[in-house]
Amino acid sequence: MLLFWFRRDLRLHDNAGLFHALASGKPVLPLFIFDRAILAKLEDKADARVSFIHDTVTKMQRELEDSGSTLLVKYGEPLEVLSELLNKYEVEGIYTNRDYEPYAQERDKAMAELAQQHQVEFSTFKDQVIFEKSEIMTQSGTPYKVYTPYKNAWKKAFTSEMAAPYTCREYFRQLLPHFKTNLPTLQEIGFTRSKIEVPPHDLSPETLSAYHSTRNLPALDATSRLSPHLRFGTVSVREAVKEALAHNDVWLQELIWREFFMQLLFHFPASADSSFSPKFSSINWRNIEEEFQRWCEGTTGFPLVDAGMRELNETGFMHNRVRMVVASFLVKDLLIDWRWGEAYFAEKLLDYEQASNVGNWQWAAGTGADAQPYFRVFNPDSQINKFDKEYAYIKRWIPEYDTSSYPKPMLDHSLARDRALETYKKAIAEA
Ligand code: FAD
Repeated sequence: MLLFWFRRDLRLHDNAGLFHALASGKPVLPLFIFDRAILAKLEDKADARVSFIHDTVTKMQRELEDSGSTLLVKYGEPLEVLSELLNKYEVEGIYTNRDYEPYAQERDKAMAELAQQHQVEFSTFKDQVIFEKSEIMTQSGTPYKVYTPYKNAWKKAFTSEMAAPYTCREYFRQLLPHFKTNLPTLQEIGFTRSKIEVPPHDLSPETLSAYHSTRNLPALDATSRLSPHLRFGTVSVREAVKEALAHNDVWLQELIWREFFMQLLFHFPASADSSFSPKFSSINWRNIEEEFQRWCEGTTGFPLVDAGMRELNETGFMHNRVRMVVASFLVKDLLIDWRWGEAYFAEKLLDYEQASNVGNWQWAAGTGADAQPYFRVFNPDSQINKFDKEYAYIKRWIPEYDTSSYPKPMLDHSLARDRALETYKKAIAEA
């Protein structure tokens, strides 16, 4: 028998590793583990992502039961759970899809060792990206650090078969016959239900074909909302790429940004918490706790920043344009370490993904591999004129905007800009 271990690929269709397990001709027992260590790190015990995972896993278990099988769901330390299962069942192999984050890499290394001790095969598959690890490299064999040439190489290497779906259902007869198993409740894993829900994605031809002209306008809700679905695998990247090819090249380029950041973090895991570019490793951040709190709560007195932070706090989502504005405000205007902002986003975003989050924060801070130049500082007011002229987005998230209870700006942007440039220049001079 093979174990198929679901992680960030929570779907029964078009799942590479599941397909390979089923197609091996051996009986397959599907498994999901609520990782105790990851859950323990979450401070909010009503975390929306845990509710979403729980709901999705429940649905998958039901679907598998309808197909005459089941999904084994465990709560614990993955290595211990797997070790117990290897002792309990006659397991010939563990199949799973690859995950490139530093934590996952370490976990899977330990898992491969455990499998070896038990003389069990540990097979991993590419599933969450079209190109992984070192598949897209420069001519000199080094990883790309700049997006545009990476994107060009990605497109050159891509062929339509790479977006062909894995037809798992054809092999469902290989699933282990049903046996009774429980699914731990949210309470049993230490959580309660969140009030925030992951919204459905919108991959309609109308939305995607208008994307290049509407994507920067936060009031329109004109983006796909695909990010949490790619994060947890409820949609496969191949489905997404197929839609992109059919409807909009600009949207395809966004999916390529995602893979660009994934390969960066894979090759440079230290960039998860240190400046990618060494010349910015000693910026003299101000890191004033009170100012950070105002940014988190959305009471800076800069309406686009505040609207964004309130959208994030209330829904777990923030429009990309506004993410760039709030990030720039935190690192440049307030001179607060980008890692503080990265950590706050990690806590709140439904689509939190280490590679994209770190990559985009370092982009905004000007410290990244392919970052905006450090001297480019977003003006939080002129961004309104460009992208929310009618104040529709702002008023949606700041109902008191037109009243005296809305705070005055907490700083003078042009002075803050000069201060940021001085501080960055000093860091470069001292590097
Ligand atoms: P769409 O505009 O419809 O784009 C389609 C898909 O392309 C997205 O779902 C996403 O998978 C990918 N994509 C789009 N823009 C980017 C980008 N700049 N970088 C990487 N992938 C991209 N995205 C995350 O998925 N997780 C994060 O933790 C995250 N943190 C961010 C932090 C900051 C400071 C910034 C500026 C951006 C961050 N992003 C992150 C990127 C982007 O904001 C979101 O992917 C996007 O807003 C999600 O909405 P959507 O699915 O409607 O995107």
